[in-house]
Amino acid sequence: MSFKLAIVGRPNVGKSTLFNRLVGKRLALVDDQPGVTRDLREGEARLGDINFIAVDTAGLEDATDDSLEGRMRRLTERAVEDADVCLFMIDARTGITPVDEIFADILRKRADQVILVANKAEGRAAEAGVLEAWNLGLGEPLAISSEHGEGMPDLYSALLPISERFETALSAAEAAEPEVSLPVSEEADEAVPVPTDEKPLQVAVVGRPNAGKSTLINKLLGEDRLLTGPEAGITRDAISLRLDWQGTPTRIFDTAGMRKKAKVQDKLEKLSVSDGLRAVKFAEVVIVVLDAAIPFEQQDLRIADLAEREGRAVVVAVNKWDLEDEKNEKLAAMKEAFERLLPQLRGAPLVTVSAKTGRGLDRLHAAVMKAHDVWNRRISTARLNRWLGAMVEAHPPPAPQGRRIKLRYMTQAKTRPPHFVVMCSHPDKIPDSYSRYLVNGLRIDFDMPGTPIRLVMRGQG
Ligand code: GDP
Ligand code: GDP
Repeated sequence: MSFKLAIVGRPNVGKSTLFNRLVGKRLALVDDQPGVTRDLREGEARLGDINFIAVDTAGLEDATDDSLEGRMRRLTERAVEDADVCLFMIDARTGITPVDEIFADILRKRADQVILVANKAEGRAAEAGVLEAWNLGLGEPLAISSEHGEGMPDLYSALLPISERFETALSAAEAAEPEVSLPVSEEADEAVPVPTDEKPLQVAVVGRPNAGKSTLINKLLGEDRLLTGPEAGITRDAISLRLDWQGTPTRIFDTAGMRKKAKVQDKLEKLSVSDGLRAVKFAEVVIVVLDAAIPFEQQDLRIADLAEREGRAVVVAVNKWDLEDEKNEKLAAMKEAFERLLPQLRGAPLVTVSAKTGRGLDRLHAAVMKAHDVWNRRISTARLNRWLGAMVEAHPPPAPQGRRIKLRYMTQAKTRPPHFVVMCSHPDKIPDSYSRYLVNGLRIDFDMPGTPIRLVMRGQG
C-alpha cells in the first residue's frame, strides 16, 4: 500500500511542475477511472526509494461554479480528505498572499499531516519568502525549486517517516527489477541523499613569504618532495596536492608556486595576497601560517581578513615555535592580539607548530577538522528559536522612539559558513551592537568558534 500525497496551493505556485517531476515518465499511469474526478491528476510518484501516489490539484482551480474562496475551500477540503498527507505549496518569490492564508487555515483544521514547501526558492530573491512562510503556523517551510530540482533531499527527508509508516519501501523483488529508475535523481540538479563522503577536505595554506608554508606542506607530505606543476582542472596559479592527512583525504592548495614569479616581478607583497585569494576561494578551511617571531604584520591580517570575508573556516598556525622561549607568555599575548586585531574571527584556534620538527601538527589536524565541522554545522530552527527567545528575554533589543523591535523568528539559511536570518520588525533600527550580541551568543551557545558567522536581519513583506 502506498500513501497518497495531495499537492495543494493557490494557482501558479508550481504544483503541476512538482507533480511532473515526481511522477516523471509514469505520467501514463494517471488514474482515469470513473469516480475519480478527471481534473484531479493522479500518478505513481517516486522520490529516491519512496513510492507514493501524487495528486495534482491544479485542475481544480478551473471550476467555475462558485466564488473563488468557497470553491477553493470545498475542493481543497475534498482533496485533503482523500489524501494521507498534504504538500502545501507557496511561491517563495511572491511571499505569502491572503489566498495562501485561506489554504493554511483549511489545512490547519482539516489535514493530519502537512508538509509546507516554499517553491521557486532557487536564488536569493526567494529567501524572504521562505522565512515568511513560517508565519503560516504550519512548521518549517522546505525551500525547493520544482523547476530546477533543488531541495529534493529535504522533501525526501520529510516524506521518509510517512513512507516508513505506510511501509512503502521498495521490496527487494521490486528493487531488483531493471526498469526501476529514479526520475528525480535523473533530472534533478541535486540528488536525493546518498552517502557522499568521498570528497577530500579542501585546505588552503596561506601566509607571508618565509612564514614556513612550503616547509609545513612538505612535512605533511612526509617527504621533501618538490612542489611541482599545477594539476589539471585547477587554475594555473594555484597548486593543489592530494594527501592522506592522518587518515583524512585532503587536497591542499598552496601558494608557493607563485612565489618565484612574484620575486621575479619584485611585487612580492601584492602578488602573494592576490595569490592567496585564489587559494582561499578553493578552500573550505584556510590555514594562516604566521612566523611566531613576527606575527600579525599587516599582510597576515589582510590574509586572515580575506579568508573571513570569503566565508572560510580559519585556523592559525603559529609556526617556528621551536625558536621561541617563554612560550606561555608569548601565546597569551598572541591570543590577545588576535582577538583585538581580528574580532570577526573570534575564537579561531591558534595552534603553535614547528613545521621543521613536525611538532604540533597533530593538533593542527584536529583544529582543522573541528573548524570544518563547525563551518558545516546546521542548527535546527526549533533550537534556534528557543535560543532566540532566551536571548531576547535576557537582553531585549532597544526600543527606538518607545517602539519595541520584535524579533519574530530565526532560521539557519545556509551552512559553509553558517548563515542565519532573523525576521523582525524594523530591521534597519537594530544596532550593530545587538547583532554582535547575537553572533557572539551563537558562537558560545552552539560552540562555533572561529568560523565566520553571517547574521541578517530581515523585515517582513
Ligand atoms: P500550478 O498552477 O500551481 O500547477 O503551477 P505550475 O506548475 O503550472 O507553474 C506555474 C508557473 O511557475 C510556471 O510558469 C512554471 O514554469 C513556474 N515554476 C514552477 N516551479 C518553479 C520554480 O521552482 N522556479 C521558478 N522560477 N518557476 C517555477
Ligand atoms: P614559505 O615562503 O612560507 O613557503 O616558507 P618556507 O617553508 O620556504 O620557510 C622559510 C624559512 O623558514 C626556511 O628557511 C625554513 O627552513 C624556515 N622554517 C620553516 N618552518 C620552520 C620552523 O618550524 N622552525 C624553524 N626554526 N624554521 C622554519
